[in-house]
Amino acid sequence: MEIAVYSAKPYDREYLEAANATMGHRLQYFDAGLDGETVALASGHGAVCIFVNDKADADVLEALALGGTKLIALRCTGFNNVDLNAARNLGLKVVRVVDYSPNSVAEHAVALLMAINRKIHRAYNRTRDCNFALDGLMGFDVAGKTVAVVGTGKIGRVFAKIMLGFGADVIGYDTFPSPEFEALGARYAVPGEIGASADIISLHCPLTPDTYHIIDATMLSRAKRGALLINTSRGALVDTEAVIDALRSGQLGGLAIDVYEQEAGVFFRDLSNTIINDDTLLRLMSFPNVIVTGHQAFLTREAVTTICQTTLQSVTEFETGQPLSNEVKAP
Ligand code: NAD
Repeated sequence: MEIAVYSAKPYDREYLEAANATMGHRLQYFDAGLDGETVALASGHGAVCIFVNDKADADVLEALALGGTKLIALRCTGFNNVDLNAARNLGLKVVRVVDYSPNSVAEHAVALLMAINRKIHRAYNRTRDCNFALDGLMGFDVAGKTVAVVGTGKIGRVFAKIMLGFGADVIGYDTFPSPEFEALGARYAVPGEIGASADIISLHCPLTPDTYHIIDATMLSRAKRGALLINTSRGALVDTEAVIDALRSGQLGGLAIDVYEQEAGVFFRDLSNTIINDDTLLRLMSFPNVIVTGHQAFLTREAVTTICQTTLQSVTEFETGQPLSNEVKAP
C-alpha cells in the first residue's frame, strides 16, 4: 500500500524500512508534520502514518479523504491529536500502536525521577567543569517514600513495579482500577490522599477532556510541600503556568517532564540556533529543579522496532481486509 509518512526522522526511516523488508509497502517520507498546509502531500496515498504532534483535525481529515486516504496509522499509543468522530463520519479507519514497550516509557520516567531527585543534571555540568562541590545536590531516599501513580495502565504498572522494587509505598489513582496493579503490592487511593501524602507523583493517564490540566493550581496547593512531579504522558495533563507558580513558591520541589503542553513545533527539532518564542518553556527551563526531555521516553530499540512492525502490520491487515487488531474508534 502507498503510505505517506509524516514527521519522518532518520530513526523512523531506518526502523520502518527494516520492518517493511517483509511487508512490501511503498513508503514516502516527509520531514514535515501533518497539518492543513502539508496535507496535500498525502494525495494519492491510501494510508497516512503520523506521530504525536501531527494534526489530524476535522479539516485535515476531510482533505485526506478527498485525496484518497482510507487509513490513518498512528505510530504511537496516544490518539488525542485525531478527531475520531470526524474520521468515523468520513469513513476513515484509525489504527494506533496499543502496546509496544511500556518498559521504555516507565524506565524513562524512573530516569527522570532519579535525575531530578539526585540532581544528576547539575552534577554532570559541574564535574565537566572540574567543580566537585556538593552544595545544592542533596536528594532523598526513594525507599520508604510515597509514590503516586496516576493512570495504572500498562506503563503506570511497570513504573509502579520499579518503585516497589526501590522500597517505596506505591498508591494509585485510575478511573478503571486494575487488579494487576493491586497484585503488585500497590493500593488505590482517592485523589485527596494522593495530593496529601505523595512525595512523588508520576502521570501515566491519557490526555482526554477529563484529564486536561489534571494537575492544576488547586491540586498543587493541596500537594505535599516539596513533592516531585514527573510527566511522561501528555503535556496538557499539566497546567504549566500553575506549575511555574508552584515551583517559584517552593510548593513543588521539582519537575521532570518528557512532554509539554505547547511542544508541537518545538520538540523533535534542533532549535539550538534559533530564538525560541515560547516564554513559558524558557521560564520553565530556567529553574535548577526542572528537567525537560523532548518526548524521548519511547525511544528505545525495542520500542521503535515494535512500533514500526505493528504500524505496518496494521496497514497490511487493512489492505488485505482482515480485522484491524489495533483499531481505535470514536467512543
Ligand atoms: P493504558 O491505556 O494502558 O493506561 C492508561 C490508564 O489511564 C488506564 O488504566 C486508564 O483507565 C487510565 N485513565 C484514563 N482516564 C483516567 C483519568 N481520568 N484519571 C486517571 N486514570 C485514567 O496506556 P499506557 O500504554 O499505559 O500509556 C499511557 C499514556 O502514556 C498514553 O496515553 C500516552 O499519552 C503516554 N505515552 C507517552 C510516551 C512518550 O514517549 N512520552 C509513549 C507512549 C505513551
